[in-house]
Amino acid sequence: MHTFANLGYWRVGGPMERFLCPATPDDLRVALLDARERGRGFFVLGRGSNLLVPDEGLSGTTVQLGGEFCTIREVHGNAETVDLRVGAGVWNDVLLKRQLGKLSGLGALAGVPGTMGGAIAMNAGTALGEIDKVVTRVEGLDAEGRACTIERRDLPMRYREGGLPVGFVVTAAVLRLSRAGADDEAQRVEAHKAHRKATQPLNQPSCGSVFRNPPGDSAGRLIQDAGLKGWRSGNAQISEKHANFIVNLGGAQANDVLCCIRTAMQAVWARSRVLLSPEVHIVGTWDEKLWPFLPARE
Ligand SMILES: Cc1cc2nc3c(=O)[nH]c(=O)nc-3n(C[C@H](O)[C@H](O)[C@H](O)COP(=O)(O)OP(=O)(O)OC[C@H]3O[C@@H](n4cnc5c(N)ncnc54)[C@H](O)[C@@H]3O)c2cc1C
Repeated sequence: MHTFANLGYWRVGGPMERFLCPATPDDLRVALLDARERGRGFFVLGRGSNLLVPDEGLSGTTVQLGGEFCTIREVHGNAETVDLRVGAGVWNDVLLKRQLGKLSGLGALAGVPGTMGGAIAMNAGTALGEIDKVVTRVEGLDAEGRACTIERRDLPMRYREGGLPVGFVVTAAVLRLSRAGADDEAQRVEAHKAHRKATQPLNQPSCGSVFRNPPGDSAGRLIQDAGLKGWRSGNAQISEKHANFIVNLGGAQANDVLCCIRTAMQAVWARSRVLLSPEVHIVGTWDEKLWPFLPARE
């Protein structure tokens, strides 16, 4: 049986009612239309590096793109730039390794696990940039299973939000990379990854930063100031190394992770009157007592 605890980065979450790995656009369309007919839901999983699913699992069909969706092809080039069509199933680290030192523009993916589909859905980014700066168009299937292409200018990508239409499945993205500055970027990427290793709990299961940084502030600092570094629910812990990470100490439940999320939101609200917004996608059905946290009206 396929479970999110096996596939996702947090190593928590229950079984998938139905799990498919479509290898072609036709397979994907069939899976999507079949799921619509069943009326049980349809979910696209990248690598589960920014995802929290309940211990009870997820109903309906979950797909993870494979086969043709894992290819990278050069589709256009001139003296300054190269356009790469990157399949939605391509892993970020594979893409980065392949282009580093040759083309620049992929700093947004430095140390960011996951797939190109997930990077578009989340508008992934780092201190070196955000993926929306190099995307020129996104290809995919809409909720009805129709193939469509969305130009970047028509996609409202924002900080950690891809702005995709509801139900849209990304199948590929075209990225415009630059021939200039590749060596400089390679150095910056290596320095950035070293900094992350020194400051983030990368040796423990997590989904990276749990909350978006509020404008001009840092979610990690707010959680640390609320005194929650090291706070635990079961075997889920607000990291002692970086307070915006929640780590699985071993055998944590998804409910424990959600409890840490809720506690951080409550404590930061109580201390700083800032309502943190989770960057992590929390999907499926949850006990109402655990979620959502909303401050009481004052
Ligand atoms: C150690 C660590 C460090 C991290 N650091 C960063 C960082 O610096 N910056 C950053 O931005 N993120 C970071 N992340 C979070 C995460 O890696 C990114 O958000 C990543 O882009 C998620 O990709 P994924 O393929 O794993 O998506 P998943 O986690 O599987 O899915 C996330 C969302 O994207 C949707 N999705 C996935 N694929 C598709 C598709 N093909 N079409 C439509 N929707 C899709 C899913 O349905 C889900 O809603 C980090 C995570 C970890 C574990």
